[in-house]
Amino acid sequence: MEAGLEDITNSYTLNEEDRIVSVGPHWDQYAMEEDAPESVADKVLGREIWDFIEGHQTRDYLFGIFHVCRIEYEEFSALYRCDTPDLYRLFRLIVKPHASGMLTVDHALIEKRQSAGIRRIAAFPDHHDTTRCSICCAFQIGGKWIDLEVRPEPGNFAKSYSICPKCQKTAQQEIDRIKAKPKLRSVN
Ligand SMILES: [Zn+2]
Repeated sequence: MEAGLEDITNSYTLNEEDRIVSVGPHWDQYAMEEDAPESVADKVLGREIWDFIEGHQTRDYLFGIFHVCRIEYEEFSALYRCDTPDLYRLFRLIVKPHASGMLTVDHALIEKRQSAGIRRIAAFPDHHDTTRCSICCAFQIGGKWIDLEVRPEPGNFAKSYSICPKCQKTAQQEIDRIKAKPKLRSVN
């Protein structure tokens, strides 16, 4: 019997140029369950991870994390949300550096439950170009970031992805912690 998604840590390895050089054993199963046949291993191996990251702020966010992992030679970890229309899902992202400049990136499912409801908001009357945080799934509505209990109608769904200030701050705190950690490296 195949493992369900809840048992799987989905992972991939990047070389020093951020190209995907290998994927974990459950990659294809994951891609199919996520309804993303264009993401099976054959179609992603050798390509840059940046081809698959939507939104320049999300790319900057990950770029910063990858950089600090390599420079400081430390593991980075952060929680993030990746919901489906019916499910609330919480994952942990773990980025592990290797001596060669390669990185292993794990996505471990921490929690999964049914969303509060499948009711939908038809529109945000005062704000039409909604942005969604790639990390916590909050929607930017006007000047506020809100974790909606109901989803917008597809036609009013977020048009772009970004990183909300709270998630930026959480990542920065983790980066600061990594940088402040005493290193075992000898200084000559
Ligand atoms: Zn956020």
